[in-house]
Parts: sequence; C-alpha cells; structure tokens
Amino acid sequence: MRSFFAHIPKELWRSYQWQIQSRIKTKEELKRFINLRKEEEEGIDKTAGKYPMAITPYYLSLIDPKDPKDPIRLQAIPRAVEVDEEIQAHGEEDPFREEGEIPGLTHRYPDRVLFTLTSFCAVYCRHCMRKRIFQEGERARTKEEIDQFLDYLRGREEVREVILSGGEPLSVSKEKLQYILSKIREIPHVEIIRIATRLPVLAPQRFFDEDLLDLLEKHSPIWINTHFNHPKEITQESAEAIEKLLRRGIPVNNQTVLLKGINDNPETMLELMRGLLRIKVRPVYLFHCDPIKGAIHFRTNIEKGIQIMEYLRGRIGGMGIPIYALDLPGGKGKVPISSNYLIHQEGSKYIFRSPFGDKVEYYVEVF
Ligand code: SF4
Repeated sequence: MRSFFAHIPKELWRSYQWQIQSRIKTKEELKRFINLRKEEEEGIDKTAGKYPMAITPYYLSLIDPKDPKDPIRLQAIPRAVEVDEEIQAHGEEDPFREEGEIPGLTHRYPDRVLFTLTSFCAVYCRHCMRKRIFQEGERARTKEEIDQFLDYLRGREEVREVILSGGEPLSVSKEKLQYILSKIREIPHVEIIRIATRLPVLAPQRFFDEDLLDLLEKHSPIWINTHFNHPKEITQESAEAIEKLLRRGIPVNNQTVLLKGINDNPETMLELMRGLLRIKVRPVYLFHCDPIKGAIHFRTNIEKGIQIMEYLRGRIGGMGIPIYALDLPGGKGKVPISSNYLIHQEGSKYIFRSPFGDKVEYYVEVF
C-alpha cells in the first residue's frame, strides 16, 4: 500500500481533494511510477481525447509494477486494443438506449429512474459501460438540468426509487448534492435513493469526510451500490470507508463485472466474494460484460460466468453468492442467468443435481 507515495504525509493521503487533484493523467506522469508496455504507451496516445486516462494516487498504489497483468493496471491504464477498429466494431456506444429526451435521465422500469449527475470520474475505468460519456469532459449537471429531472420525477407517481449515477455522483459539490437530495426527499412517492458510486474502490478517502456522511445520513433511506471487481481492491482504506457508511445506517451493496483477464477465474471470484463479506458489503450482482465500444475486449463467454457461479455454490454461504445477470440490448432489461439444477421431473418426483455433482431425488406432494 502507498508503494509509490510513501513520502506523502498521512493527512494529504487521506484527503479526497488531494487524491483528485493529484490524479495521474499523462503518459509522462505515469512513467515516473511504472515501466509502460508498448501497447499501453500506444493506448494512452491513441485514446487521448476519446477515452481519457485519470488514475488516483490511491488506485495507482494498488498496482504491482512488476506484473504486466496486474488486475488494477488492466482496469486503469489504456491499451491500444480500446481503439482497434476491427475488434471494437462489435460494440456499441449505448446498447441499452439510455439516452433520452431529458439529459441524464433513463426511465426503463416503471418503479425506478436513473439520473446521471456528472460525467466526472475519479478514475476512468477502461471497462466502463458508459464510456461514451468520457468524451463529454468533466461536467456536472447544471441546476436547470437537475430541475428538469425533478419536474419529471414529480409527475411520475409510479416511481419509488431514484438511482443517482454518473460518472461519479458523489464527486459533485456538497451544495449540489444537498439540493438534489433535499428536493427528491420532498417528493412523497419516492421512497428510496440509491447512489451508484465507485469511490469506495477508487478514492475511499471521500468517505472520511464527516460532512458528506452527515448529508447522506440526513436524507435516509439511502443505499449505496458500489463496484469492486477484484480482491486487491479490498484494502484497509476501502474497509474504513464502508465501515463509516454502515455506521451512518447506509447499506452498501456491490456489483461486479465479469472481466477477461481480471476476475474471470473461479478462485479469484471466490476470494472477492469472501473479502466483500468480511468488510460487510453484500455482493448482489455479477454482471456479464456489456458489448460496449471501447471495452469489448473485456468480454468472456457466458459459459465462463456459469462455471464461476457453479464454483461459488457450495464454497460460500448464500449471502456471498451474487446473481449472475446480463442486460438485454435495446433497453429490454436485466435477466438472471443460472445453471439448471433441476434436471428432470415426473409427476411429484423431481431430480436435482447437487452443487457437488450428485443426482438427488426430491418429492413434492401438494394437498
Ligand atoms: S467510476 Fe463507474 S462510471 Fe466512472 S469510469 Fe468507472 S465504472 Fe465508469
């Protein structure tokens, strides 16, 4: 931990503002810490202006510079394959048709709406499913755009949940956050606010700020959805951030994306799920990697995901087993993908395959 930054005083290291101001954004800066491979140098050059790079010192410090396949490195440093026309021709910018008439608003399911509050991220994750917004520059929604969203919300009584997303929604100013949270709370039919944030992973220092925690607690019930992809991301600092949220009554759930070369093996995934439970984060989803232009090279086949899910079952309690799911194209919604444990049925007799591979008969008589 802090391998490249041992000289930085503790107060600075624990400051979110310092982490953001000190982000590594150029090839020259990055080369001070890591010997870049050719495909990375080319990647940084070729993705400039399209899929920019930014890495917090904290996230960079998790990289083992001697390992070219380090899972943090692969998530944070651009590679030339991101702009390889032949490979990326298979992906789309917005396969789920998120963009609609109101800027930032997606209303796919009747009971919930998603609003992207900013295009800023602490780190630009190379596999991001909203990679298209990287090109917008680092811009938070204006008050007018937020008001337009709030007007829409007021008129939709079927909406019970608002998901604030991004970019990184908790990067906007406290004033803006206070404004949108308090206005949402004035709308009687909205019961839950969910915040989708990767800051516990990329800059957990954000949650060392008691004013932010006060603000979140005041607008309860707020749920946090975060995005750990690899056991290396579970650190003392990320655990501290989670603990602080939990102590304020803010539950933290996780969604992982299945990523080739990063977490697509059963042992890594088991270690990740165990680590999440240890820091009291509930693993809710394992998402199949979406067909996103610029990130298509991270995809595995579906059999790989099923194999991982089968490995988890029987090795970790149900609390640690996420739902493996994929997002259907065209905004048609998420569907779970599961192994078939029921292999035969005849009248009241069912035959199941156990997690250990046995065939087991099960009878159900309904009276
Ligand atoms: S923090 Fe989230 S929105 Fe931002 S780049 Fe990473 S995955 Fe995408």
